Amino acid sequence: MRIISLLFILFIFQSSISQALELDGKLTQGGLIIGSTNKNDSVFFEGRKLRVSPKSGKFVFGIGRDHADRAILKIVSSNGLKKIIVLKISSRNWDVENVDGLDPIKVDPPPALTKRIRREWALLNSIRDRDTPVLNLPAGFILPADGRLSGFYGNQRILNGVPRRPHLGVDIAAPIGTPVYSSADGEVVLTEEDLFYTGKTIVINHGHGLTSIYSHLDKINVKVGEQVKQGSVIGKIGNTGRSSGPHLDWRVNWFNVRVDPMLTLKTK
Ligand SMILES: [Zn+2]
Repeated sequence: MRIISLLFILFIFQSSISQALELDGKLTQGGLIIGSTNKNDSVFFEGRKLRVSPKSGKFVFGIGRDHADRAILKIVSSNGLKKIIVLKISSRNWDVENVDGLDPIKVDPPPALTKRIRREWALLNSIRDRDTPVLNLPAGFILPADGRLSGFYGNQRILNGVPRRPHLGVDIAAPIGTPVYSSADGEVVLTEEDLFYTGKTIVINHGHGLTSIYSHLDKINVKVGEQVKQGSVIGKIGNTGRSSGPHLDWRVNWFNVRVDPMLTLKTK
C-alpha cells in the first residue's frame, strides 16, 4: 500500500498529534486505510469511533464505493486536544459488467425463499460487524487464488440482461479444485456449506472490523475458530451459489463497508 503524505503540514504547528499521524492506503472510493497515531489518541472517521491499537497506535477505516468527495477524520489526544482533518476522497468511474447464464431463481428468487435470504444476510452482517482487537495486517493482503481476474469491484452489474446492484468483490476465474488461500492472517469466523447467493462460503476476521470473504467454493478446508496464515490453503474454487462458472468471489470488508480488494494488496 502507498504512503500518503497527509495534510499534516497544515497542522504541524499545533501539536504532536499531526506529527504522529500517518495514513497508509489510497484515499479513494473503495480504499482501505491503515493509519497510525499516538497510541493514546481517540480517532473518529465520519463520526465513527475507531479502535486504536494500544500497542502500535494503529487504526483502520474503509471508504465505500459511493462515498462523497470529502471525509472527516477527527483525532482527540489524551489531553483533550482535538484535530479535524478533511480528507479528499477521489471518485472513480465504474465499468459495466454483463453476467449471463445464471439460474433465474438466483436472480429473481421466489417469495418462498425470502426468509432464507434474509436470515443469511443477517448472519453475514453480524459477522462483518465484529470489532476485535488483534490487527492481522502488517503489509496488506495477497490475491487468494491463481487465475484470470474476471470481475472487478464497483462495476455495474447486468445479470441475465437486467441491471442490478454493483459488484463489490473481485472475481478470479479458475478450474474447480484450484486452491484458495487466505489473503491475510486471521481467524476463521464463518464456514457455510450452502448460502443462497454465495454457496460454500468462508469468512476470515483480520481484526479492527476487517474481514475477507471467499465465495462459490467447491470445498472448505478450515473450521470456525481456526487461526490461518496469509497464503495458507483454506478451500478450493467451485461454482456454488449464484455463479455462472467456476470462480472465486473475493471480498474485503471494513464492518459493513465493502472496500476494493485490489486496493488492499501489498505492493512489495
Ligand atoms: Zn463476484
